[in-house]
Amino acid sequence: MPHVFEPAPTGRAKCRGCGQAIAKGELRFGERMPNPFAEGEMTLWFHPRCAAYKRPEAVLQALAEAAERPPDAAALELAARANSGHRRLQRIDGAERAASSQAKCRSCKQKIEKGTWRVRLLFFEEGRFTPSGFLHLDCRNDYFEGHDILAPMLHFSPALNEDDRAELTRAYGVQRQP
Ligand SMILES: [Zn+2]
Ligand SMILES: [Zn+2]
Repeated sequence: MPHVFEPAPTGRAKCRGCGQAIAKGELRFGERMPNPFAEGEMTLWFHPRCAAYKRPEAVLQALAEAAERPPDAAALELAARANSGHRRLQRIDGAERAASSQAKCRSCKQKIEKGTWRVRLLFFEEGRFTPSGFLHLDCRNDYFEGHDILAPMLHFSPALNEDDRAELTRAYGVQRQP
């Protein structure tokens, strides 16, 4: 079965990309893949924008094949193209202030101080996303090889309020560029 864009028939399903509910009637994206645990296929449901960042190849394929393109196809394609072919960019799961000083940065291997910004990372395997650690915000250029991650980082940070988002954006902006 091909990947699909369709209106959500109920409001019960959660998006695999962000963990938030997909509202009834809202457009959703279904990625089809072989079920790693049983025979047949399974479908992972996403908000289209969440899939564009985390599963860009599937979204690009669906956009290329869709009989009817979704209304924001151009924006989705732009987001998917930015992350397509870059495994690390697809791991971005937002940002937060470190709740403790226990985690080490996946890039520089140094401790991430409590209260400082860190980027959450996920690993996709066998049809599911698994938390795979953190990065110093300051180490993003090394880890992501200079790619701009502000849009997906903010997108996957729904728990941050307006002030936090403004502060995160400022902290991101004062970074040295490669
Ligand atoms: Zn989502
Ligand atoms: Zn670091």
